[in-house]
Amino acid sequence: MFLSRPNVAVSIYGGILSKKNLFSLALKMSSKTASASPYFQDVKRLTRSQAKLILGSQDQPSVVSSSRTSATETRKPQISKLKRPHVPVRYESRTTSRPPPKKVLSNSAKPSKPRKATLKFDPEADMKTDDANADKQKDEDFKEKSQAKGWEPVRWKETLDFIREMRKEKDAPVDSMGAEKIGDHDAAPEVFRYHVLLSLLLSSQTKDQVTSAAMMALRNHGCTVDNILKTSDQKIGELIYPVGFWKKKIDYIKRTSQVLKDKYNGDIPATLEGLVKLPGIGPKMAHIIMDVGWNKVTGIGVDTHVHRITNRLKWVKKPTTVPEDTRKGLEDWLPRELWSEVNVLLVGFGQQTCLPVNPRCSECLCKDLCPYGRSALRYGSPKRKEASPKKK
Ligand code: SF4
Repeated sequence: MFLSRPNVAVSIYGGILSKKNLFSLALKMSSKTASASPYFQDVKRLTRSQAKLILGSQDQPSVVSSSRTSATETRKPQISKLKRPHVPVRYESRTTSRPPPKKVLSNSAKPSKPRKATLKFDPEADMKTDDANADKQKDEDFKEKSQAKGWEPVRWKETLDFIREMRKEKDAPVDSMGAEKIGDHDAAPEVFRYHVLLSLLLSSQTKDQVTSAAMMALRNHGCTVDNILKTSDQKIGELIYPVGFWKKKIDYIKRTSQVLKDKYNGDIPATLEGLVKLPGIGPKMAHIIMDVGWNKVTGIGVDTHVHRITNRLKWVKKPTTVPEDTRKGLEDWLPRELWSEVNVLLVGFGQQTCLPVNPRCSECLCKDLCPYGRSALRYGSPKRKEASPKKK
């Protein structure tokens, strides 16, 4: 009664079936009969490959007979054998299988583009490079030595000796018209100190020649505290003109003179703190007044020349932009016994050789020791912009 599929095929068609017909019959039976007939609910659907396998086993066309029932039944397990065998997947740990992360290079660490090689041969350039390397090595040696005993500039003693040598004639404007030169040495000590104070007050933003002329005019007029307080502002203006900021300086002179009369009995303060409280007197002036007026060294007087030259010579640990920082930087290492000398020495050197613009490096004895000069002579101009406060 209940026949398997091949038997049904035999009952319908009978006789010999071609491979093609048998294949299509097998497909039909798998798709339709399974759902249409309750009798074929247990019949599993065949895949194409399973059907092909069945057909493939029948190399020769044969008579489909009831004897095949047993053959197909026996083949079923063989089909299941052809299922893809389960191969366990090995999952390797990500940490081992992942490629190492790429290094992110910062801008500074990025390799720079290789420069194109130049085939030119320039013996002069090679010699310059050798000189530069030798200088660099020397500087490094001195740096190492100086680091052992605290920071100090490279070969500063040699440099100072060269500057002394260049300044030995003492023929710079500061040598004849500096603050200590234009006061009246024959006057009473407190009057001389008053002259020192006024000459420094007038010297700000003014050339030594102009300051000296103004001071001589005041002396001829009668330069004492009492007399200046009696003099009109207009008259003082006529005497000191054309010093820089002459109108403002009239006010400073009058107010300072009044403080000296009221608080110091016509003399000047004997302390740095007292001096810097006076109108128009800054730290640079106060240190020089203490040195020249009271013969006490309280600090280095750093004006525009000292500031510029010491930065060019790298006499300060780090480049400075204001004279007050330069003063602190110098006082850190320069022996105290040189503080008084260095002001006049460098001011005169700045007036004659190490000029603010176009310094005379080729004539300078320090040209092999001075970083600015070496750079200027090798390359025509310094590599870096120097610190340059306002011109005096
Ligand atoms: S070499 Fe030039 S920059 Fe240096 S100290 Fe001499 S003049 Fe000044």
